[in-house]
Amino acid sequence: MDFALSDTERAIRDTARDFIAREVMPLEPELLRRERAHRPGLEPDELRELQLKARAFGFWGLATPEAYGGMDLPAVTQSLIWTEIGRSYVPFRFGGEADNILFRANDAQKREFLVPTIEGERRSCFAITEPGAGSDAANIRLNARRDGGDWVLNGEKTFITGGNEADFAIVIAVTDREKGARNGGATAFLVDRAMGWRSEFIQTMGEGGPAALVFDDVRVPERNILGEPGQGFALAMEWIGKGRYTIPSHAVGIAERALRMAIDHATTRQTFGRPIGDNQAIQWMIADSETELEAARWLILRAAWTVDQGMDPRHASSMAKLYGAGMVNRVVDRVLQIHGGMGYTRELPVERWYRQVRLYRIFEGTDEMQRLIIARDLLRGYTRLGGHLA
Ligand SMILES: Cc1cc2nc3c(=O)[nH]c(=O)nc-3n(C[C@H](O)[C@H](O)[C@H](O)COP(=O)(O)OP(=O)(O)OC[C@H]3O[C@@H](n4cnc5c(N)ncnc54)[C@H](O)[C@@H]3O)c2cc1C
Repeated sequence: MDFALSDTERAIRDTARDFIAREVMPLEPELLRRERAHRPGLEPDELRELQLKARAFGFWGLATPEAYGGMDLPAVTQSLIWTEIGRSYVPFRFGGEADNILFRANDAQKREFLVPTIEGERRSCFAITEPGAGSDAANIRLNARRDGGDWVLNGEKTFITGGNEADFAIVIAVTDREKGARNGGATAFLVDRAMGWRSEFIQTMGEGGPAALVFDDVRVPERNILGEPGQGFALAMEWIGKGRYTIPSHAVGIAERALRMAIDHATTRQTFGRPIGDNQAIQWMIADSETELEAARWLILRAAWTVDQGMDPRHASSMAKLYGAGMVNRVVDRVLQIHGGMGYTRELPVERWYRQVRLYRIFEGTDEMQRLIIARDLLRGYTRLGGHLA
């Protein structure tokens, strides 16, 4: 058994780490200043400028095939890079990416939607959640009715990340109510904003926020169906699958950075004439955080490795998402506690992380949905105890 990174993995990880430290982290004080003034911490053109700088370093399209100018990295390497991104609280991500399911587009759609998204010329959003259907995604109601050569969409989506900024939406709509969404009754549509959908920003406890999308007789041509009619639910599950290891990978970066801050604070902050880190109460918080962080790291890398092996990653990814999201919430909570009153202020990023990571237990499958998947796999005998070593 070998727990070491390969030379290539290490080299790519270290280059990403250098880039984040040199180009992204210096923006952090200004980010906090702007957000304290209730302004966006990072403007879209600033993000774009950073992404183009990274492109010059060869970082462009971590998951994007080389034919589209990307790096086409294995999932393990992508996971390592998402951890590096998580070390900075500047909401940076490398450019050259597109929603994984856009690669299922036909040639004409690739020219119209995929390539401009990769190049950063068009912005997408992915919409399945509705006011009446979140965890129970198969219960979606947004309806697509055939009318001549077009489809007419009516209904509402909600909590759509990037929905207020997107130029087009990948919308999962019901095309055959009899069959039901899960059994071939849902279809994915590529819907330009110009076709008439509206978006309304939703305030959340995090910085930035998602949007509600309203479809009121929005006419979409047949050629804008993504994949095959009836394949919408499967495409949606494929889209969600990716986040199940990238979200917790990001969480590991956040937890490491936060824990580093807590350790530094514990060695410098004095009470009753000695550093607070001399107290067992503080030491236990540090020890538990490091232990959980290490456990999450290996669960997540194993999930990513499962993807690279071409094995079904769902079970491992659900455990990685469940544990990684919980871990970062527990670690950030302890880090805030170790910082005392300062942890609660907006002078430090700790309260920002506290608000940000709460989402990780909710979106792209709540804790409860991950538990449901893990338990169901075991109860039905689909997965054996002991994972791939069993
Ligand atoms: C900031 C943000 C960004 C998002 N981005 C997107 C996006 O880009 N695209 C998109 O389509 N969606 C997006 N979502 C939606 C997100 O995926 C859903 O909020 C999530 O799946 C939960 O659905 P819900 O909010 O309807 O909660 P519900 O499904 O109503 O669940 C409420 C609670 O009940 C629990 N619960 C539900 N059913 C069960 C059960 N059977 N057993 C036990 N517990 C259960 C849930 O775990 C949860 O705790 C986003 C959400 C947020 C907050």
